[in-house]
Amino acid sequence: MRKVIIIGSGIGGLIAGNLLAQKGHEVTMFESHSTPGGYTAGFYRKGYYFESGTLTFEASSSVFKAMKDIGLLEKIDFTKIRVRFVSEHFDGSPDNYDDYKKMIYSGFPSDQEKLDKAFAELNKIIDLMGNMNGPMPNLYSGFAMFKTMLPYILSAPKYVKLSKQYGHMTSSEFAARFFEKDSKLFHLFSGISYPDMSPMLIGAALLTIFTDLWTVKSGMQSWADILAKNFKKLGGDLKLKSYVDRIITKDGAAVGVSCNNTVYQADYVISAGDYKKTLLQLLDNESLISQEFREKISSAAVSEGFFTVYLGLNMSNEELGRYMKAPLVFPFDYKPGYDIYDSEDGEFFSKTSVSLYSPSMVNPGLAPAGKSSLMLQTIVPYHWMNNWGSGNKELYNQLKERAMEAVIDSASRLIPGLKGCIEYKDAATPLTYERFTHNTDGASSAWSWNPRKKFYKNTFSVNVETPVKNLYIGSCWAAQIGGVPGALAAAYQCANKIK
Ligand SMILES: Cc1cc2nc3c(=O)[nH]c(=O)nc-3n(C[C@H](O)[C@H](O)[C@H](O)COP(=O)(O)OP(=O)(O)OC[C@H]3O[C@@H](n4cnc5c(N)ncnc54)[C@H](O)[C@@H]3O)c2cc1C
Repeated sequence: MRKVIIIGSGIGGLIAGNLLAQKGHEVTMFESHSTPGGYTAGFYRKGYYFESGTLTFEASSSVFKAMKDIGLLEKIDFTKIRVRFVSEHFDGSPDNYDDYKKMIYSGFPSDQEKLDKAFAELNKIIDLMGNMNGPMPNLYSGFAMFKTMLPYILSAPKYVKLSKQYGHMTSSEFAARFFEKDSKLFHLFSGISYPDMSPMLIGAALLTIFTDLWTVKSGMQSWADILAKNFKKLGGDLKLKSYVDRIITKDGAAVGVSCNNTVYQADYVISAGDYKKTLLQLLDNESLISQEFREKISSAAVSEGFFTVYLGLNMSNEELGRYMKAPLVFPFDYKPGYDIYDSEDGEFFSKTSVSLYSPSMVNPGLAPAGKSSLMLQTIVPYHWMNNWGSGNKELYNQLKERAMEAVIDSASRLIPGLKGCIEYKDAATPLTYERFTHNTDGASSAWSWNPRKKFYKNTFSVNVETPVKNLYIGSCWAAQIGGVPGALAAAYQCANKIK
C-alpha cells in the first residue's frame, strides 16, 4: 500500500482516486473548491441548474469503460443528445456525417465543386478515424492494451501519410484551400470546435458529434458527486476547500504537499490540475526544472477560454424546445471582421457565433416547474480588452455586461422574446473559469489545439511523467488536446504507475 496525494478533484483526479483506492492505496485528494468536479461539475442559481464546464462528451466507449471499471456505469444517467446546426443557408440535426454533408450541399448549391474537393479530403480523414473509435489503449495494460492498439497499428501507414499532409496544417489553412477567406463556407470549415486546430481533429469531431455525443441527465455535478462518494466509500479522503500551496520535494522526488499550514506526506503526488501552475508555482524547489524547460512551459499556448451566459427563463421547456429544436444548437453566423486573435476588438461579441445549450431540455427537473434554463457560449480572444479590464473591477463589470448583452442579442435571433423571459442572468469570463479551477487563462481544454503551437510532440500521446520523481500529471494537461478523454487517459496512466 502506498500513500498517494491527488491535487484536484476534476474528472481526472476523481478517476485516478477511485482506481488507486480500489487497488488498496491510501489516497488523499485535495480540492480548493467547496464541491468536487472541476470543469465536470455544475451549480444551482435561483433553482436553475447550469454546467460549470463540460456540457457534453464524445469517446463514450472510453468513458463507459472507465465507469464500468470503477463499478459505477449503471449509477450515472448518461444520455445521448442531438445537435442542431443552423445558419441562413441550412438548418438541421443530421443523424450522421453523410446527412451533415447533404445539409451543407443543399445550403450552398452554387459551391458544389468546391464542396466536393473539401469533403473529398475530409472523407479520407474520417475513414481513417472511423477505424480507431474503440476505447483508448491508455485505459488498458498488458495484452488487453495490445489488443486495443491493433486498429491503431493497422491504420498507422494511412495515419502517417495523412498526418504528413494535415498534421501541421490549421483549419483556416485547410478552409482557405477551397473557399474564399471570410466567406460563409470558410467559417463553416474553419470554425468547428477550437480555432485553427488541425483538419485531423475536424475529421474526428465530425465523425462523432452526430453519433457519439453524450451528457449526464442529472447534470455533470451528479457524475462528480457519485465518483466522490465512491472514492470515500473505498477509503479515500476527500478534503474540500483545501488549496494546496506547495508540492514538497526531497532529493529530487515529490514527498508531500502543504495545505492550510499543514504538511501531508506521501510516496506519490498526482497533480490533477493545471500543468503550468504545478511546475512553475507549486514546486518548492525551482532548480528541479531546468531554465530551458521553465521557459518552454511558461510560453506554451493554452486552449482558448469561454464566455458563458447563464439564463433562467420564465419560458416553458416546450416553448423553448419549439425554437431550439435540440438541446444543443450551433449557429454559424460569424459577422464580417470576426477575428478570434483580435483582443482589442470591443465589438467582438457582436461578430462571433454563439452556441446555445439548455440543461432543462435534457432534464426538465433542472429548472423550476414550468420554466427553463439556457447557457449561451462562445470562445473568446485571449486577454480580451486588456484581460477584461486589467484588474479594474468596475471596468470588468462593464465589459462583462456589454459582452452579455451582445451574446443575448445574438441568441434572440433564434428565440424570439428571449429578453422578456429572463428571470436570472449571470456570466462567466475566462477569469471566472480560472478563479474556480486554477486553469491558466481559463484554458478550457489544456494546451492549444493549434498544431503549430504544440507543447507535446505527439497530439495524441499521454504524458504523465514530470522531471520530478514521483510527481505525475493526472489531469487533461497530460494530453495536448485535453478534454474528458485526456483526463481519463491521464488518470489511468497514473494509476498504472503506482504499484
Ligand atoms: C465551457 C467548457 C466546455 C467543455 N466542453 C467539453 C466537451 O464537450 N468535451 C470534452 O471532452 N471536454 C470539454 N471541456 C473540457 C473538459 O471539461 C476538461 O478538459 C476536463 O473536465 C478537465 O478535467 P481535469 O480533471 O483534467 O481538470 P479540471 O476539471 O480542471 O479539474 C482540476 C481541479 O483541480 C483543482 N485544483 C487545481 N489546483 C489546485 C490546488 N493547488 N489545490 C487544490 N485543488 C486544485 C481545481 O479546483 C479543479 O477542481 C470543456 C470545458 C469547458 C470549460
